[in-house]
Amino acid sequence: MLTQVNYRSGRMFDMAAITAQAHAAGTLTVWDLAHTAGAVPVDLRGAKADFAVGCGYKYLNGGPGAPAFVWVHPRHTERFWQPLSGWIGHANPFSFDTAYQPAAGISRYLCGTPAVIAMAALECGVDTLLAAEPLGGMAALRAKSLALTSLFIAQVRERLGAHPLTLATPEDPAQRGSQVSLACPEGGYAVMQALIARGVIGDFRAGNGSTEPDLLRFGFTPLYTQYVDVFDAVTALSEVLTTGEWREARFNQKAAVT
Ligand SMILES: *Cc1c(COP(=O)(O)O)cnc(C)c1O
Repeated sequence: MLTQVNYRSGRMFDMAAITAQAHAAGTLTVWDLAHTAGAVPVDLRGAKADFAVGCGYKYLNGGPGAPAFVWVHPRHTERFWQPLSGWIGHANPFSFDTAYQPAAGISRYLCGTPAVIAMAALECGVDTLLAAEPLGGMAALRAKSLALTSLFIAQVRERLGAHPLTLATPEDPAQRGSQVSLACPEGGYAVMQALIARGVIGDFRAGNGSTEPDLLRFGFTPLYTQYVDVFDAVTALSEVLTTGEWREARFNQKAAVT
């Protein structure tokens, strides 16, 4: 199992190459597309992927807790069933059999009654993405996403050079998702809280103290993030660091969600 775009570094892996290596070693793959779907063009069949999962609430705009998704290559659908079996994935849900008989095809991967209201919200989020189709679709969104993240990296270099931040995301666009992470050796959590108070909403992921640094994460959703937002975010970060306002007690109270 591998997340195609790493949630910490924002590094994107080559799905086709890694899947080929896994297959050569007799291994099946599960790709986690949480940071990919809606942000980067994905070609699961082209990569000969086996399985994929993802969430609906990041670049698919479904809102917190939106339904997740599963994809199974047709060569595998009938060979497995998923362990969370439920009546909607049953071959005959209304026969109320005592024995579990999975439905044919991808339907067997369903579980219980779908969260219909949450799916209606997710549908609006996906429709918003699909509305970009006449304007170039995922290819255009990917181009804008890379332009946004490249601009952010360049602005951080140009305007924040005096501060001890380092880029934790690959500079090679082919290895970048739609996120930029900055390693922040001191006060990362509080820096992000101060940014959020200024209306720049990223998040903080703690390191493990030795090999992994504390990170400030910035996600750039290309549908509605503008270049001026990137500029303004770097201005806000510059002010938070230069004034030292992140040291204020109100930004240093750890909340459950970081
Ligand atoms: C957001 C995210 C998910 C989504 O998990 P849920 O259980 O659907 O909330 C899964 N994997 C990764 C790596 C994520 O970042």
